[in-house]
Amino acid sequence: MAKEMKITSLDDFKTPVRKGINEVYVKSILNKHKKRDSWFLLDYSINPYLGCSFNCLYCYIRGSHYGGDTTHKLQVKANAAEILKKQLKRRAKNGEYGLIGIASATEPYPEIEKELKLTRELLQIIARFKFPVSILTRSTLVLRDMDILKKINENAILPPDLKFKLRGGAIISFSFSTPDEKLAKIFEPNAPKPKERLETMKKFKDHGFRTGVCFMPVLPFLSDSEKQIEKMIVLAKNYGSDSILTAGLTLFGDKPTDCKTVYYKTLEKHFPELLEKTKKLFGQNFYPNPKYQRKLTERANAICKKYEIKNRIV
Ligand code: SF4
Repeated sequence: MAKEMKITSLDDFKTPVRKGINEVYVKSILNKHKKRDSWFLLDYSINPYLGCSFNCLYCYIRGSHYGGDTTHKLQVKANAAEILKKQLKRRAKNGEYGLIGIASATEPYPEIEKELKLTRELLQIIARFKFPVSILTRSTLVLRDMDILKKINENAILPPDLKFKLRGGAIISFSFSTPDEKLAKIFEPNAPKPKERLETMKKFKDHGFRTGVCFMPVLPFLSDSEKQIEKMIVLAKNYGSDSILTAGLTLFGDKPTDCKTVYYKTLEKHFPELLEKTKKLFGQNFYPNPKYQRKLTERANAICKKYEIKNRIV
């Protein structure tokens, strides 16, 4: 994950122009990665929003930094479009083309995007400067922007080493922690249903996009069995995913609003029998023990091989 840019001082916060919307003004919106990341192939990332309305209970953006309910802390980078124009103009002039991840740290399509259309505006700018993009979302709203994404897919200039590996300039990926609707309702209360995400992905596939499933975070003892992973991989394949990336859960912090605390409370309420063994799996760490992680990767890789679906984007 790319680091979220810093709001440089309290002066960068201005009075919200629209009631109920927290607007922040930023000095930079395009994060250049030091090195292209090997999972998502990103050279740049953009996060139009801070916080998220989907309120997934395992989400690391809740907690010490953001507060307990991610919905209430949602902030909009109000001058993002103006800044992006300047930054992309300069990068394009220097021929510094690379895949831009939207969004690497939060959701690019929170509920407010329906009204604000900020992500859409940023995509229009990206299309104008012919940069390629990789969208990662849990939302079906991405469908609204298919017109712009088609332009990007057809016209974007890819970096030379990716030119022959990627078919087009737009990759559309969807995140899942489980394909199970009931489980998703508990852990991702405000996000569109897994089935809706799969159907949206299929539409992009049918329009010639490279698509992907990010099965992350896999929930320990809830969505990590061979049967559950197989179900996710088979669904991904059936709904036209070109690849599936799998990763375990990370849990941070021990304050009341931190995601580790919130996750454990959720287990206590819905799956009390899993609480102690989950705590043991994490110990004092923010990730499950290495043996578990290795097994999870091996299991997912073996199932991907069985169903002939790539476990990396290219
Ligand atoms: S959709 Fe992503 S950013 Fe939003 S709450 Fe869920 S995990 Fe966090």
